[in-house]
Amino acid sequence: MSSDRTYDVIIVGGGHAGSEAAAAAARLGARTLLITPDLARVGQMSCNPAIGGIAKGVVAREVDALGGIMGRATDAARIQFRMLNRSKGPAVWSPRAQCDRELYPFGVRRALDEVPGLFLHEDMVTGLLMQDGRVTGVRTGGGEFRAEAVVVTAGTFLRGRIHIGSDASVGAGRVGEAPSVELAQELEARGLEIARFKTGTPPRIDGRSVDFTRTERQDGDPQDFRFSSYVRESIPEQRPCWITWTGEGLREVVERNLDRSALFGGEISGRGPRYCPSIEDKIVRFPDAARHQVFLEPEGLESTELYVNGLSTSLPAEVQVEFLHTVPGLERVEVTRVGYAIEYDYFPPHQLRHTLEVRAFPGLYFAGQINGTTGYEEAAGQGLMAGANAALRVLGRSPFVLERDEAYIGVLIDDLITKGTDEPYRLFTSRAEFRLLLRQDNASRRLGPRAREIGLLTERQNEALEILEERDLRVQRWFVETVIEPADANPLLGQCGSSPVRQPVRASELLKRPEVPASGLAHAGGAMFDPSTDTDAVAAVEIEIKYEGYVRREAERARSLRRQADFELPDDLPYEDLLSISSEAREKMARVRPSTLAQAGRIPGVSPADLQSLILEVRRWRRKEACFT
Ligand SMILES: Cc1cc2nc3c(=O)[nH]c(=O)nc-3n(C[C@H](O)[C@H](O)[C@H](O)COP(=O)(O)OP(=O)(O)OC[C@H]3O[C@@H](n4cnc5c(N)ncnc54)[C@H](O)[C@@H]3O)c2cc1C
Repeated sequence: MSSDRTYDVIIVGGGHAGSEAAAAAARLGARTLLITPDLARVGQMSCNPAIGGIAKGVVAREVDALGGIMGRATDAARIQFRMLNRSKGPAVWSPRAQCDRELYPFGVRRALDEVPGLFLHEDMVTGLLMQDGRVTGVRTGGGEFRAEAVVVTAGTFLRGRIHIGSDASVGAGRVGEAPSVELAQELEARGLEIARFKTGTPPRIDGRSVDFTRTERQDGDPQDFRFSSYVRESIPEQRPCWITWTGEGLREVVERNLDRSALFGGEISGRGPRYCPSIEDKIVRFPDAARHQVFLEPEGLESTELYVNGLSTSLPAEVQVEFLHTVPGLERVEVTRVGYAIEYDYFPPHQLRHTLEVRAFPGLYFAGQINGTTGYEEAAGQGLMAGANAALRVLGRSPFVLERDEAYIGVLIDDLITKGTDEPYRLFTSRAEFRLLLRQDNASRRLGPRAREIGLLTERQNEALEILEERDLRVQRWFVETVIEPADANPLLGQCGSSPVRQPVRASELLKRPEVPASGLAHAGGAMFDPSTDTDAVAAVEIEIKYEGYVRREAERARSLRRQADFELPDDLPYEDLLSISSEAREKMARVRPSTLAQAGRIPGVSPADLQSLILEVRRWRRKEACFT
């Protein structure tokens, strides 16, 4: 904080959304203040210290491509790396990293400290300052701070309540941290729709008390993979994870104690994530499953604690110990921290614009768990977009919105605003229509130029992007221009079970064969680049040549969607009066207030016939408006 308490943008909260929002706003040139109750916990991982996974790994790379922090903080903290979905082809590969719980926030803080124009202040925000319906700043225990734009990223803290068993519950945002009650009350009192969700975390155990001989060791991939395309951090020493299974013993303990679970005893009203169920949920919902997989994941290089992935619970502490002792390898395990469930307020996201600005209050933005999402990556992606848009607004510049064919972040934000969510929202590849375009390997090629254009990249990141672009071009050219002699190609083709060639052939022609890998061709053709280090460039060429037809069709579909997106819908369209549209569609569109025809088409309940009528109604409405003015 500086002595002048006036800023361009204020960010409330120093979690994953808040850190990215603050860095993005400041990188764009806005004088930015991040306020959070405990500066030592900036970038803290509330649950599993892992970044990435299916779809989420692509988001982490997109955040990096847009100049964000998450990619480099992950590289500097990762103690195990795996490329998920490797058996399914490079278009859906998803990087995932287990991180050191201490090193990750350290990396986030280091990155924040490097950003000029970004100030940090330790305090709890208790309310907003408003004038004529516009936000003008925030109130804290220590006084008032003024800004034209405020981004709230309060995570699970809004009226957060933790439950350990059915009779131990306490108000908290995370274990040991106070909830944010006044801010939640004020936002509700200002008329915003509010609802409640829940999530949970498993117990942590002391690795020294585990019998690893009864578990299966899982090492990471040896590959020198980086989440960050721009900054080369040094990767820490790597560690294995361990796999074990629950069995009949655990089922019996959980079933016997179900009425003592906060999740099942009725103490928690909010909905939880279906795809990340507690062990109570799994036992009840899958009564025929003989066993459930459990991953024992390291929490850090200097820690003996293990995260028991798969056993999230809100059963009492003694029951947690009892069920853990039934699991092979954990018979004598010492619990270091018990699992718990948490319920918290969120604001249904149909109340937002695509910039993540709250429709009702210009200058106020929401990002992260407060919008009904779950996950560090989802929070980071929203944070970056909200912070950027808050800064652009204050600087009088056009908003920055990513479309569904540009980024998973675009899919995430559009889904939230258009469809809303009745359970904590997380990304999956199935949510995206353009999966072949939205890959992890091409994140910096897709989004780097956009980020550069609006000024989200630092000088160093711009230079790194230029080098990447040159490298991509070089690799692409090599495949298109290089002709490989049969004597060089045939040994590789033989190894791959592919028919030999008799004439010299272009590398790009051979690459069209599904069984022939790009890296092998690069070696066979004596390429000057190294396919084991230029992995993104080589993967991109491989996908674009091998799946050329599919990629082209997807790009065509994306272009046609863009044409629909160009048909803008007025903000003040009186949907209730557009009688040629079905009443269900009118009601839903009035609630969401889509900004384009394409967005209207994605609202559940709006049919193609409704869209045709909508076009005619909008044209009629525009003519009428023009007459009046
Ligand atoms: C128990 C638990 C289990 C979870 N399990 C998983 C999981 O398995 N997988 C997964 O992907 N995600 C999980 N999550 C969710 C994940 O932690 C969040 O999605 C992610 O951290 C959200 O990021 P965020 O920035 O929105 O909020 P957070 O990371 O929660 O950060 C919120 C920040 O806002 C600050 N803050 C709050 N109120 C105020 C205020 N009034 N003034 C100033 N600062 C304020 C807080 O101190 C904190 O710094 C879990 C979360 C919890 C708590």
